[in-house]
Order: sequence, then structure tokens, then C-alpha cells
Amino acid sequence: MAKDSEVLGSVQAMVTDAHPAASLLQHAALPDLNKEEIARYSRHLIMPEVGMTGQRKLKAASVLLIGAGGLGSPLGLYLTAAGVGRIGLVDFDVVDYSNLQRQVIHGTKDVGRPKLQSAKDRLMDVNPFVQIDTYETTLRSDNALELFEDYDIIIDGTDNFPTRYLTNDASVLLGKPNVYGSIFRFEGQASVFFPRGGGPCYRCLYPDPPPPGLVPSCAEGGVLGILPGIVGLIQAAEAVKLILGEGESLIGRLLLFNALQMRFRELKLRRDPTCPLCGEKTDHSGTDRL
Ligand SMILES: [Zn+2]
Repeated sequence: MAKDSEVLGSVQAMVTDAHPAASLLQHAALPDLNKEEIARYSRHLIMPEVGMTGQRKLKAASVLLIGAGGLGSPLGLYLTAAGVGRIGLVDFDVVDYSNLQRQVIHGTKDVGRPKLQSAKDRLMDVNPFVQIDTYETTLRSDNALELFEDYDIIIDGTDNFPTRYLTNDASVLLGKPNVYGSIFRFEGQASVFFPRGGGPCYRCLYPDPPPPGLVPSCAEGGVLGILPGIVGLIQAAEAVKLILGEGESLIGRLLLFNALQMRFRELKLRRDPTCPLCGEKTDHSGTDRL
């Protein structure tokens, strides 16, 4: 994760308008809820911002989680519980004892199992009305577009820069919102990168990946176990707001969280017209960017 000063260095002047989350996702016909679903989602249904229409929007929606680890655990659990109709999980890892301090979707009995099997079992138990699709693969430039195409929202739960850039680039090329989160030790960041919705992409902030080895990963530098819970659920809240079309999105804002200080700060972001990916002069024909 970059230091704040680096973030500030690439942040443009303040943007004027907040980005409402309204109407970013369109579905021709919303599915009905059955009796059990109506009982299950009753605390949503009585909220004016959700209601029957909002819950049907959630059921119609599809979300792809890149990574079933620290961020993917709270994301998967809560988005499944909330009734997002179809959730895709991309991961290729196996559950390890060192995961259990933060990856709460997996249990001790799952050590040694593929994370996708463990996560799917847990999520099907949380909510059998949600379709869980698993992709046991690394995210690569030759499969990202195909994987992303079928989903409304992409959620970045990655722990490395190549995958993070690939997630950003494929989302931009397909015009899909990329709900971003990252964590390191006591600090986290979150935003929604969505040029088609008027905001910047990840490359508007950081045009190119840092040289390998320069920025330590969580595996190298450590991470507070509860931190992905906090950041992952901020991402989950943003995804749900995009689906419902309610509230103010994190599009155009970078939320910074420090658990030691217990403080949230926020930077306004805007699109970089010279961004190598989403800038005005960028040719988007073809997929050579990947
Ligand atoms: Zn950009």
C-alpha cells in the first residue's frame, strides 16, 4: 500500500459533486422473492431504502469477488447474507493455519482444503438462495475479461499488485464498477473505481505498479486480523449501495482508515485525462492493455 504522501501527490484538485450511486445497474425484469426469502430479508424489507424492490434488485445482481481471503471473507459472508443473487469467487489457494487469524470464512477443519470449496460450503449454509459460482484459477490477462463479463460488479480483494492492476484494467475495459479495498498492518483504503460512472480508475491514482519488492505485502509486513473485516465490509456496503442505487458512492473518493488512531480520512479523486487506461486520448479498441 502506498503512503499517504504518494496518494496526495497524484490526487487532483477537489471535485465539485458527490457521485450518487443511483441507477448504475439496470435489470429488465426483477425476480420475485419466495416466502422464505421474504421472512429471511424482513429487516431489509421494512427499510424504505431497500424494500421489496431493493431486495429484488439484490437478488437480480451479480458480484465477482477476486480472492477468497482476508477481504473476500467478510465480503462473501455479508453479501451472501444480504441476498445478492449470484456471487462469483476467484481463488486458487489452499487454506493454511496462517489464514485463520483473519479469513473468517474458513475454519480450522478447512486447513488443507481449497479455499473455494471451504468458502462455498460456508456461504451455502449462510444462504441457500444465493448462487455461488467458483473459479479455481489465477486471474490472468487471458481470462480476466471472460470472467468479468458475466458480472455486474467486480470487487477487488487481491493481495498483490499484478492482480490489482489486472482487476482495474479489465473492469475499465468492460465498463464495470471496481470496488477497491486494500490493507496493510493497521491501515486500509477503499474506493469505487468506475470511469463510466464519472470517477477515476486505479491507474488515475497510480499509473504503473511499483517495482516488485518495493512495497511489502501483508505476508511480508503483517496485517491486523480485524482490519480486513472493517475494510471488506466498507466494500460490501459500497457494492450494496451500487445495486440499490441509494446514497453517495465512494466513486471519486478514497477512504483512508487507520485502526491505531481509529480515524477515517477521505481524499477527493478525479479522473486523470492523461490516464494511460481511461484517459481521453486512450484507444480502448481491442484488449492489448491486458
Ligand atoms: Zn484512469
